[in-house]
Amino acid sequence: MNKNSKAAAVSMENLLRIFTVPEAPGSTLSRLENDISANLAGFLQDHIVAEETDLVKIERDFSDSLIPEQPVYVSEQAQFLLDKVVAQSVHTSSPSFVGHMTSALPYFMIPLSKIMIALNQNLVKTETSKAFTPLERQVLGMLHRLVYEQPDEFYDRWLHDSHHHLGAICSGGTVANITALWAARNRAFGPDGDFPGITRSGVFAAMRHYGCEGMAVLVSERGHYSLSKAADVLGIGRDQIVAVETDGQNRIRPDALRAKLKQLQQQNIRPFALVGVAGTTETGNIDPLDQLADIAEEHGIHFHVDGAWGAPTLFSERYRGRLKGIERADSVTIDAHKQLYVPMGVGLVLFRDPSALSSIEHHAQYIIRKGSKDLGSATLEGSRPGMAMLVHSALKIIGRRGYAMLIDNGIELAQRFADRIESLDDFELVSAPELNILTYRWVPAQVQAALRDADVARSIEINEVLSRITRIIQKTQRELGKAFVSRTRLTPDRYAHHAITVFRVVLANPLTTDEVLCYVIDEQREIVSTLADSEDFVELARLTSASTD
Ligand SMILES: *Cc1c(COP(=O)(O)O)cnc(C)c1O
Repeated sequence: MNKNSKAAAVSMENLLRIFTVPEAPGSTLSRLENDISANLAGFLQDHIVAEETDLVKIERDFSDSLIPEQPVYVSEQAQFLLDKVVAQSVHTSSPSFVGHMTSALPYFMIPLSKIMIALNQNLVKTETSKAFTPLERQVLGMLHRLVYEQPDEFYDRWLHDSHHHLGAICSGGTVANITALWAARNRAFGPDGDFPGITRSGVFAAMRHYGCEGMAVLVSERGHYSLSKAADVLGIGRDQIVAVETDGQNRIRPDALRAKLKQLQQQNIRPFALVGVAGTTETGNIDPLDQLADIAEEHGIHFHVDGAWGAPTLFSERYRGRLKGIERADSVTIDAHKQLYVPMGVGLVLFRDPSALSSIEHHAQYIIRKGSKDLGSATLEGSRPGMAMLVHSALKIIGRRGYAMLIDNGIELAQRFADRIESLDDFELVSAPELNILTYRWVPAQVQAALRDADVARSIEINEVLSRITRIIQKTQRELGKAFVSRTRLTPDRYAHHAITVFRVVLANPLTTDEVLCYVIDEQREIVSTLADSEDFVELARLTSASTD
């Protein structure tokens, strides 16, 4: 234990105090709380250290594995958090931090979160959640309607029907995807004659009964890794996530998909779900959902759309057409902690058919009895917080029109930034934004010219040096702490599908402007100018001058 810390006395009286008495108005914790409420941006600006500290160094502040024998004072812990945790956290709401899918929150989320925590409801059953249960079902209905646009009667009929579910709320996109594939698996290998279904008998008995030698899920090679986790958890194996080739725009190729389906048939492996991605994590591209729906229908397999990132585009009258076909999906994942601007920790999956989730239902005697309204019967998680209250509030306070504006703003900002990159002779746009995500890299004009003339071998050599430089620029910019773009590896057509490293920009923070993005580029140029004598630059000069003689 830290020798400087004063131990508080352990007594029942003191313990009762922390349950009943609020922190004094002038205490460290109260001051911290007031500062956050009054001016969040200022608070983060003041307390987060901009320049990056090595994680190994940070680990030293968290190296003690002993739980203190004696309690420390709340104020002491608050000061520790301020100095060691807040200071070394990431400024996710900064307008110039455009590399993450985690961005700014509307202000009302802070007090609302506090209310949610104060009420401490548990959505596993109505006994511990009461109004939160119908509220959660309403949220599912609202988003179901956004995607599936069923008539009033549909929602009147199903919204609060205890034997049916329009979807499930969970901790995020990963659990939403797992839930979707879980229901798809259980429906494809359900009870049949004497066979009680995969839910009871397991994967091996199900394959024996249905006469197949494997189970598979198809998705493009840009599918999110949560699907592999799902395959592992569901007992079908990670290798049975069949990755289908993509086209030049990172979208699944229907011809390649058909070929894979044929191949699976020959191997006697039964595909039970086809996943379309609506907004790939790396580049924000959207699969041809209508065509996927046709193929899924033809083969009688569950069609899931992973719209963790992109589904809220449906709010936009201008751009919702890009998701055409999503309304034909059997299930759709939406992350609320991404483009619904709700705090971290909430996602959801919707099912077109209100009876689909019954395939995973679980009932226990003492809790979640059959026919009860307990939500815990149809969710992977058991105890769960009342995050739906925050989603409900965001949907109402921002509203359809508000979300449409946020979505349009991000897509149009991304388009203008892409146009600007294309107009610069020292940068190259690698993936144009279909939504609000784009990728690019630094490539000076003479190198661009050399790449145009180079054969494949030379192009690979040049791109390897460029990838190293991209990595250095990205890392240096992050360490400087004023702006942040992420980086990823892509295999564009124009470089014969060899992997290159690129900057990735995600534009969902409404506070990000064209000027902020100009700054990002200017700073990257400045970083480049400090690298002029580095080994990589000498190598780049050698490779590109040799190609011109
Ligand atoms: C973010 C994301 C996920 C995973 O969601 P988590 O909330 O991180 O669990 C899944 N699919 C896509 C396309 C995503 O963008």
